[in-house]
Amino acid sequence: MRAMTTPDPRTVTRAAPRVGIVSLGCPKALVDSERILTRLRAEGYEISPSYDGADAVIVNTCGFLDSAKRESLDAIGEALKENGRVIVTGCMGGDAGAIRAEHPGVLAVTGPHQYEAVVAAVHEAVPPAHDPYVDLVPPQGIRLTPRHYAYLKISEGCNNRCSFCIIPDLRGDLVSRPVDKVLREAEKLAVGGVKELLVISQDTSAYGLDLKYAERPWYDRTVRSRFIDLCRELANFDLWVRLHYVYPYPHVDEVIGLMAEGRILPYLDIPFQHASPTVLKAMRRPAAQEKTLDRIRAWRRDCEHLALRSTFIVGFPGETEEDFAFLLEWLKEAQLDRVGCFPYEPVAGARANELPGAVPEEVKRERHQRLMETQTAISAERLKRKVGWTLGVLIDEVDGDGAIGRSYADAPEVDGCVFLNGETGVKPGDIVDVTIEHADEHDLWGSVERAE
Ligand code: SF4
Repeated sequence: MRAMTTPDPRTVTRAAPRVGIVSLGCPKALVDSERILTRLRAEGYEISPSYDGADAVIVNTCGFLDSAKRESLDAIGEALKENGRVIVTGCMGGDAGAIRAEHPGVLAVTGPHQYEAVVAAVHEAVPPAHDPYVDLVPPQGIRLTPRHYAYLKISEGCNNRCSFCIIPDLRGDLVSRPVDKVLREAEKLAVGGVKELLVISQDTSAYGLDLKYAERPWYDRTVRSRFIDLCRELANFDLWVRLHYVYPYPHVDEVIGLMAEGRILPYLDIPFQHASPTVLKAMRRPAAQEKTLDRIRAWRRDCEHLALRSTFIVGFPGETEEDFAFLLEWLKEAQLDRVGCFPYEPVAGARANELPGAVPEEVKRERHQRLMETQTAISAERLKRKVGWTLGVLIDEVDGDGAIGRSYADAPEVDGCVFLNGETGVKPGDIVDVTIEHADEHDLWGSVERAE
């Protein structure tokens, strides 16, 4: 059975109507789920962690790839079978026809960011209690991540038009949240006990462009709704701040200084997707013309231990063996810390489907394997260098055998871990100094440093 998304038990209390949620897709979709739950919780709904305890189930779908659509349709089918009263929302909700064709029994289908419509559908299916229990909602809202880290969504939509992507069709152009709203949310999260903020959007470095970088009041000053200004202000909270989905536009250089000063985590998640200029052009990637290897060298000169994460697509239409070999050489030069790689998958409605030069599936698989082998060797070498270092580690889990945490170089879910065997005297959310003793291709092992 598919796991129901389970809220932090501290946010679950007794109440009358009960709603469950299955949240699929990316962290941005997870933030949407959190917003829906926060709103419902504010209205007095109880959040059910199981199908049979729920009066209705919301399935927040992903529609990015065909495989994600299939997973969404399967999740809807499972929720119908296990519960029977299902409301569909999220990216795939934009394609109500496909959902209703396979699952005519769903109660309602709403698209991405249609919070009001989802909530209205829940009201229809399960009327709210008379007493809204407003006081029981924690000020930071309901979160689906553990208590000590949270995703902070700074904008919706995207102004780019990458040829393999239909997100702008699904979610529209960039709409940034005013900077004071973002900072207020960050402040509430910090007060609520969050230790790490993961800044997300479709294009984090474009933040504020649509607002013309408008100034907003924030305590005794004004702050511009601009990437670097937002980062500076987030650095004032006593938190780990981790930046995701950043493109290497020239102004990104400004944030490296904050990282070198230790004010935000020296970590950049940049979805490069490829390195060959021909493929990048066909992909219509933002910042494709930037000399990224030179930029990476300059960043590491200014911030020596900067961790770089990226994702790549292999087997894009028209990718030749030369393009792929170029990418492998680029990876060897770039020495990225963390890499995800996906064989190209045509997304219904994407412009890339019309490009000539489809790459056979077995070639895609073979290139995927070669890329991961190359990167595994790089990763192992880079992690080995950390043996003997002292790293701050944020503890995620503790059991009778020890603890698991993450360093500045490890985002939750997608990167590696630091294993602390035998360390049972720590708790989730602690940040401890750890001596690194061992490394493999993905993870580190170490012991908590103690005062003599
Ligand atoms: S930057 Fe490209 S891949 Fe990312 S959401 Fe925008 S169009 Fe899609």
